[in-house]
Amino acid sequence: MFYAEKCDLCGECLSSCQYLNYDLERAKREMEELVNGGCPPVVESCVTCVACNQVCPKGANPFDLINERQEETGALGIPEESFEKFAQLHNLPTMVFEGDADKPAMNLCIVGSMVREQLEGSFFNGLTMVEGADYFCTLGYVHLGRPGLVKENMARFVKNLTALEKDEIICFHDDCYAALKVKTKEYGIDVPFKVTHLFEYIANQLKMRKDEIKPVRIKVAYQAPCASRYCPEKDRFLEEIFDLLGVTRVHRKYDGENGLCCGAPLMARDRARALEIKLKNVEDAVEHGAEAMIFLCPMCFLNLRKLCRERNVRPVFISELCYHALGEKDY
Ligand code: SF4
Ligand code: SF4
Repeated sequence: MFYAEKCDLCGECLSSCQYLNYDLERAKREMEELVNGGCPPVVESCVTCVACNQVCPKGANPFDLINERQEETGALGIPEESFEKFAQLHNLPTMVFEGDADKPAMNLCIVGSMVREQLEGSFFNGLTMVEGADYFCTLGYVHLGRPGLVKENMARFVKNLTALEKDEIICFHDDCYAALKVKTKEYGIDVPFKVTHLFEYIANQLKMRKDEIKPVRIKVAYQAPCASRYCPEKDRFLEEIFDLLGVTRVHRKYDGENGLCCGAPLMARDRARALEIKLKNVEDAVEHGAEAMIFLCPMCFLNLRKLCRERNVRPVFISELCYHALGEKDY
């Protein structure tokens, strides 16, 4: 939700955007036009990375305003077939794998089939796993310029998770965490269970098994998902994980607030631009000496792994890095 009362039109959001190359004057001008109901060029050029929500020092959420305008105008020009393909996710079979009654549930949203290997390990033993249409958070609609559909689906999503009658739900998919922690508040939807991010869950598991960890002395880059921009405070758990594992996160150009999108949201409407962004991202990791790129989002992983391998940067999902350190399996 854009908070107009917090925005002083400083222009910092759009002048910091990695994809626009705006000076401060242009950034202020386009923000003013947006706030006044107009549709400046940023509405079409935006890659929907959500970074400007994180950058805004006033917490005004400029991306949410841009996203609203994208929905009103259709400026992103998303091909109908891409929209229909995404909407097919509502037809995924719902599955519930019962775990121990006293353990939390983990929501795999619509990524279950993409992450079976990443789930093979002792961390997740005994958890109730749920996935499919009933547990689809739908946050991905923001990348299609349709935030209204996220709002439309949120009460159903929360209701289905609540019906599991668990005190705690762990979100495997970063989108679900952002949806439950941020979007529900904006929509006034009560969430009657504790929401735990995968990083927090993994960090706690590692702390309990500290003596079993064999340090992994490698240099890594991290690929943050777009959804992390809604609630970057949980990234402190990632730092804990890296410390516990003994890996070093390289200080690279495209990290933190300046991180780049994996390119997935752009593939359908501007493939050449998406490839350019992907290359910039992976080359930056190479230049800064990263031996591996660590992933949280399955979509980022699928979208960047080939390029990473071509550049000798090993693509590694966060859970697999941990299993390697615990001697459970190689990555
Ligand atoms: S949204 Fe935030 S960063 Fe952008 S102009 Fe308004 S106050 Fe400044
Ligand atoms: S969402 Fe990303 S691409 Fe769009 S204006 Fe904000 S920073 Fe730029």
